[in-house]
This record gives sequence, C-alpha cells and structure tokens, in this order.
Amino acid sequence: MARIVALHTHDVRFPTSQTLDGSDAMNPDPDYSAAYLRLVTDAGDGLEGHGFVFTIGRGNDVQVAALRTLEGHLLGRDVDATLADLGGLWRELVHDSQLRWLGPEKGIMHMAIGAAVNALWDLRAKREGKPLWQLLSSLTPEEIVDLVDFRYLTDALTRDEALEILRAAQPGRAEREARLVSEGYPAYTTTPGWLGYDDDKLARLCREAVEDGFRQIKLKVGADLDEDLRRLRIAREVCGPDVGIAVDANQRWDVGDAIAWVERLRPFDLAWIEEPTSPDDILGHAAIAKAVAPIPVATGEHGANRVLFKQLLQAGALSVLQLDATRVAGVNENVAILLLAAKFGVRVCPHAGGVGLCEAVQHLAMFDFVAVSGTTEDRMIEFVDHLHEHFVTPVDVHSGRYFAPKAPGAGTEMHASSLAEYAHG
Ligand SMILES: [Mg+2]
Repeated sequence: MARIVALHTHDVRFPTSQTLDGSDAMNPDPDYSAAYLRLVTDAGDGLEGHGFVFTIGRGNDVQVAALRTLEGHLLGRDVDATLADLGGLWRELVHDSQLRWLGPEKGIMHMAIGAAVNALWDLRAKREGKPLWQLLSSLTPEEIVDLVDFRYLTDALTRDEALEILRAAQPGRAEREARLVSEGYPAYTTTPGWLGYDDDKLARLCREAVEDGFRQIKLKVGADLDEDLRRLRIAREVCGPDVGIAVDANQRWDVGDAIAWVERLRPFDLAWIEEPTSPDDILGHAAIAKAVAPIPVATGEHGANRVLFKQLLQAGALSVLQLDATRVAGVNENVAILLLAAKFGVRVCPHAGGVGLCEAVQHLAMFDFVAVSGTTEDRMIEFVDHLHEHFVTPVDVHSGRYFAPKAPGAGTEMHASSLAEYAHG
C-alpha cells in the first residue's frame, strides 16, 4: 500500500516588479510568487503531486507556513484511498476543527488547503495518465457531485439540481471533447494592458495581440481618469471596433466612484468592468451592475469561497464570473462554483496570468465546457504571456486560443531548476 511520505515546500519569487509586468491600480510592484507544495509517495512510480498558491511577493513565506500546517493531515495517508475520495479529503481539511478558526473558508489557510487539494488532483491525474480536464470530464455526474460540499449552498443549488445540470450535459460530452481538442478554447489577453507600460508599448502590444488572433484585450484602469481615457483611445484605435476591450480596476473604487468613472469610459464600448470595488462587497457590486448596465460587471479572482460566489449570483452582482485556480480551496470548490454559475446561467471567464495560473485554470474551463455548461459562447480564459517557461507543461496558446493539454497532470508542476533558481532567501 502506497503512502504519502513527504511534503516539501518552496518559497519561489520572480522579480517581475523590475519590469512593471503585472502593475495595476492597486498592485504597482508585484513580484509574482508561488507558495509551492510537492507531495511525495513511496509508490515507486516516481510520480509527485504538485500544487501552489499564487501570491505577489511579501507574505509568500506566511503562505508557505500555512502549507506546512497540513503535514499532519497528509503524511502517512494511503494514496489510493485518498485519491479515490477527494471530496472526503476536502471536507476533512476545510472543516478541521482548529484550522477553520483561521478563516473560516477564506484567506491564507483556505488557499493552503487549495494547494494541497490541487497537488492531490495533479497526482491522481498523473497516475491515471490523463490531463486533469479530461480526468474530470470522464467522471460520472454522481462522482462529480461527490466532490462538492453543498453545505451553505442548498438555498441556491442542491445536490439534485447539480446532478440535473451534469446529466443534461452528458450526451454531448464526446462531441465537445473532440471539438475542444481540434479547435481549442477561446482566450483573451491582458499582456498589453499593465498600467506601468508607456503609450508606445501599449500600442505595440495591442497590435501584436490582434495579429496573434485575440478577439479581446484588457486594460488596467482606475489610477487616473485622463490617463485611462488616453490609453483607451490608443487601444481602441489600434484594435479597431471589432475587438473587445475589457477594463480592470483591481478594487480601486468606492461604489459611487466606480459608477461615475465607468460612465466616463462608456464611449469606448467596454467588454466588461472588472473588480470595480472591494471583492467582498456583494451589494456594492450589485449596485454598480445595475447602474452601469448593460456593461457587464466581472469579478472573482479575489472571491474567497463558494459562499461568496453564491451570493454574488443571487444578488445579480456579476455577469462574468472569474474563477481562479488558487484563491479558493482547490479543484473541488471550483467545481462547486462552476455548478453555481451553470445554475444561474452566468458565463465563466477564468482569471489567469500571475505565475502558473494559466496552466492551472485552463483545465477547469475545459472541464466546464465538456461536462458542465457545455458552451464556450462569450467565454474565454485570460492569457498573459509571462513565466510559462518555468512549467513542465506550459500552456499552448496560439491563434487566440488555448489548446487542450495532453500531458497527464494538473499543469501545476514547475521545473526543479526554476524552484531552485528563484528560491527566496
Ligand atoms: Mg483582474
């Protein structure tokens, strides 16, 4: 019987603030980082489970310390039994009677659990010889709902309703999987839009994005209205009228400011306004959504858990749900969020970028297409062209689309050389 015999952690930081990659109205100098976890077994097959939490620098050591608190839960576990019941494992970790005090179900401890859960999914997918999206898409509706903790969700989504959604999508799975493999999944790019880039670089990157086949770009806004208007004018001129331009305020505004500011940007035909205010302010998002309609409100990258997403959906506070691979407690909670989005008929456009977020989140969007929502209409995964070279199976994005990974695993494994070279401290 194989057991988990070691949990290794790494504090990995990339000096991205030197080039202002990733700079926005609230995060002017991010150093993209990962609190990284490796689970080792004694199975003798050489396979490890890798997962991480994305952070932007300071505090990554605190996130690593949170990973270490899970040692007692994970070391010594029977590998087969654990991987066969990842829903049970999720509940055990999230509802730990002492750890839950640190949230509950939000923040550093919750994200640490997410990294462990994702590492276990990585291990399971490698052992089954499938990329994660395909593994998830091959599960029965009953197996999928068993992954989800419906506690706190049943006023919006019951287990039976989730089963209904999944069963309705079952007949078309094979056809959609074939389409996904041949055509890929739509992407949009944030590469041109960082606030720290000058106008020439903005124009050049917009031009390149359109030439590369992207149908939507995203610009950071919210620091200075005149600059936003100037940058939007440049982007609209270069991209033309047919390419979508979304804007992202990264939580910069109060509710009233958001409404007034977006009103000024309205002439540029915005694809959406992202994170206009505090990610926890559900009623604020609802007020903004109502005031700026029909401009869609997007949020989710800082959405702490499935309960918050439930409320955003119930309140009509968002119309673009931006799932994040490492913000909530891993694959299982994201499956719950995908099911909630399907129930409410809201499109999912995952958040990515950072380090490894594109590699990780694509699996969830692809699973959603094959087995949950059954559609890619108006949906796209964010793409940022940074740091992919550090991953063993980097994303394949071309012609404005993500092409489905074929390699077994969850896409979360970084090269050992990168872990060593960018080790902090
Ligand atoms: Mg954003």
